[in-house]
Amino acid sequence: MTSNVTGRVVRAHGGFYYVQLDTQLVECTARGRIKLEYDRILVGDRVRISMNPDGTGALEEILDRVVVLRRPPVANVTQVVVVSASTEPTPDSLLLDRLLVIAEATGLKQVICFNKVDLLYDNTVGSLLEAYSSIGYRTVKTSAKAGQGIGQLRQLLCGETSVFAGQSGVGKSALINALDPSFARKEGSVSERLGRGRHTTRTAELLSLDKDTFVVDTPGLTSITLDMLDKGKLSEYFPEIGKYTDGCRFSDCVHMEEPDCEVKRRLSLGEISKERYGNYVTLLSEIEEARLRRY
Ligand code: GDP
Ligand code: ZN
Repeated sequence: MTSNVTGRVVRAHGGFYYVQLDTQLVECTARGRIKLEYDRILVGDRVRISMNPDGTGALEEILDRVVVLRRPPVANVTQVVVVSASTEPTPDSLLLDRLLVIAEATGLKQVICFNKVDLLYDNTVGSLLEAYSSIGYRTVKTSAKAGQGIGQLRQLLCGETSVFAGQSGVGKSALINALDPSFARKEGSVSERLGRGRHTTRTAELLSLDKDTFVVDTPGLTSITLDMLDKGKLSEYFPEIGKYTDGCRFSDCVHMEEPDCEVKRRLSLGEISKERYGNYVTLLSEIEEARLRRY
């Protein structure tokens, strides 16, 4: 019996945990001891298992747990793919910036994906994409429908555990299916093989795209608010604003009405976009309102 096998919990159902090893998926149970030590074993957990002679396994230990998302409950997510449609629905830059800020504050890498480029007749996306790329964000244009940009998206996912986020209807599910059409097909066969009942509540799963590359099958970050953020830290989460804050006269400058504000100066020079600054101000006032509600 070996007990040095490590893998990733990709699915949890009915008391069983499905652990993805390099080349095989092992159905595991959790021993009493591990259940006591960790009140909840999460999809995404890195685990050490021991193999039984019949090919099933037992969870022995939960390894390092870094970022844990609450909804969907997944451990060790490393990246967020913020999806915006090029059109239908119209891009919502405030939501985009909000998700980027939440990702940054949570310690997740970010990719911005402009989907549905097949519906576009002008270059609206081009200028949006250019604006975000020039700030330093990694961006990609896709059409889940026409299969465009999917290879490039796959490269951006390489080695990461990514969760998709964005408005409803932008194509998050379509993109996940486009990344690997077998995901959609697998769904049926895996449920049968692994005994997923028809009437059971679905929990999030990790889709294994490649060795060490996973995608959470359920979109996330929707329920997160900015309440927990520190007002003074918000500008750090806007990279092109954060890089000028050292030049402000006051170290606690929030770049609103303060005199000698370097951010406002750069804004007037057009080096920071009005739209991004406007979103910064909106999110800042949200944080302030949340703070006032608490007292
Ligand atoms: P989600 O709510 O973000 O998961 O969005 P869905 O994946 O359910 O897609 C919403 C709708 O947009 C569906 O009708 C999809 O067929 C459609 N859709 C998704 N991606 C594309 C695309 O790249 N081009 C076009 N034309 N339609 C798309
Ligand atoms: Zn300032």
